[in-house]
Amino acid sequence: MDNNRRLETEVAADRDQSAFGSLLDGLDKKFMIYKIDSEGLILDTNTRFLDKSGWTPKRVLGKPFKIMFPDTKDGKADLMKVWRRLRSLRPWQGDVLQVTKTGEPYWVSLTAIPVMSGTQHLYTLMIEADRTEERKLREKLESIAYTDPDTGLMNRHKLTEEAEQLIQTDRHFTFVYLAIENFHSLFDPGDKEAENRILSEFVHSMKVYFRNSRFARIGMNEFAVLTPLGSWFAEGFLQFLDEHPIQSDMTGIPVRVSGGIAKFPDDQQSFKHLLSASSIARHRAMRDGGGLITSLSKPEQRAVARRLRIEQKLPGALEEGAIQAFYQPQVDMTTGRIIAAEALVRWEDRDLGNVRPAELIPVAEDAGLISALGAHVIEAAARQAANWKQEGIGVPVSCNTSVREFRAGDMVTKIRDILTRTACPPSLLELEITEKFAFEAEAEGELMHQLKLLHDDGITFALDDFGTGYASFRYMQTVPIQKIKIGEEFIASFSTNEKVGRIVDGLVRFGHSLGLFVVAEGVEDEAVYQALSISGCDAVQGYHTGRPMPADQFTRLLREQALSEKN
Ligand code: C2E
Ligand code: MG
Ligand code: MG
Repeated sequence: MDNNRRLETEVAADRDQSAFGSLLDGLDKKFMIYKIDSEGLILDTNTRFLDKSGWTPKRVLGKPFKIMFPDTKDGKADLMKVWRRLRSLRPWQGDVLQVTKTGEPYWVSLTAIPVMSGTQHLYTLMIEADRTEERKLREKLESIAYTDPDTGLMNRHKLTEEAEQLIQTDRHFTFVYLAIENFHSLFDPGDKEAENRILSEFVHSMKVYFRNSRFARIGMNEFAVLTPLGSWFAEGFLQFLDEHPIQSDMTGIPVRVSGGIAKFPDDQQSFKHLLSASSIARHRAMRDGGGLITSLSKPEQRAVARRLRIEQKLPGALEEGAIQAFYQPQVDMTTGRIIAAEALVRWEDRDLGNVRPAELIPVAEDAGLISALGAHVIEAAARQAANWKQEGIGVPVSCNTSVREFRAGDMVTKIRDILTRTACPPSLLELEITEKFAFEAEAEGELMHQLKLLHDDGITFALDDFGTGYASFRYMQTVPIQKIKIGEEFIASFSTNEKVGRIVDGLVRFGHSLGLFVVAEGVEDEAVYQALSISGCDAVQGYHTGRPMPADQFTRLLREQALSEKN
């Protein structure tokens, strides 16, 4: 390097140094600062650093900076992370635990900056802000957020995290869902002391029995254990409780436990699935008399997994329009004309295959998606009815509803909006409700109010699966019904079973006596069709007169019908 070039470099370095100097002055007041050389030896410190760490300059200068890190696994890992980065002359930033001269830990937010002059490393600045108070506060908040206050066990949030971590690292474990069945009969309500004693003895028993396991309280009387031990061991917990009973002070009754087990990864592959499968097994154990810890069979495990897949995929399917309405004709028995179409939900998914309504509706109800699903089908049906009307081949469409859609509260607005949007007159929309629904509506003013409003708009109501629900017809007086549909359960054995035949005759007469239109569902053959005709049934819906079909196919049927009527 010639003299001029050397001079330029030195001047630049000086300028850098002086800018740095004034920056350091500012930092000095707020932060703990020390400098280390390229070997990691401490070169210099500020007073704040000395105050916090308890070192004197005499003792600390020349020492390797690793003395600032705790001599623990985490401490060493942090040190290595920082050092690896600094050795490659790149800055590092993050929270680390440091120790004072006497080994007291304190948290800092560390910014480590290698200071260069050209390509030459002069030293590394270690700038630290004290984070101990924030950390303490955070740990306290975390412990509140993640701990059950009565038992000190993890709560459901923490359990989710712990289980998900085990799953991510592919660690095999058994998920055990336990419930104290007779929890509320073990102490007087409000006797917190007795309640806490039972809880703490139960927790103690779990901890003694399930070694090396993690425990959570996930409900008032419900617990979860994540254990590396197998299901046979988990089942043995009941035997253990028999031998070491926990008894109520009040009655002497022992704690009675039921439980469900699901294994990762053999039975289920996600936390949600494990929870669901073990909870179903636990409820079944209760139903079968309790005092049992059990797991689901392989086919049941698969059913749980499928149910959750349906739940996960349903929102996307609704958004993408993968869920359609099929239409099944209702045929008038005297004229043979199609007089209405029932809209039935259909979903064919690439992975799940055909998701039948019998599977889909309960999942949608449980997942809180029934309103979205119902609205989707009603909108498709209303649009279709409006199209048919415009073409001059109009028939009303009938849509199934679930009581939960009405309980959501905004059903009236939703339906009015749909009718406006699709330009479908209310007279072309019929809503099917079940007997159970009608029964509940009769008792619940809010439900009845909604039915009345829609009825006043001109929408009609049909009672679906009539005869299969409740042996009470009180609702008939108040719920605005125009049509009853006799369920396929009756119709299937109508022509072969004399008693069923008489029941159906009776149902038809019952409907007519109330001035209702009577439709028979599930009519599969001519013999049943003829028998129903003799009974005086008004219309039929079934494979005999037409299966559920896509809209375009139904449109063709309506066009043919219109054409034959013209001729
Ligand atoms: P549902 O309303 O009683 O509908 C009649 C069911 O009987 C339909 O089953 C239909 O395909 C079937 N079916 C029709 N004709 C025959 C026949 O001749 N023989 C036999 N064996 N079955 C016949 P699907 O489509 O599987 O629907 C089942 C149930 O799911 C429906 O019973 C309804 O309660 C519910 N559902 C369907 N779509 C919806 C919807 O969009 N919303 C709601 N909330 N429920 C729906
Ligand atoms: Mg129906
Ligand atoms: Mg039905």
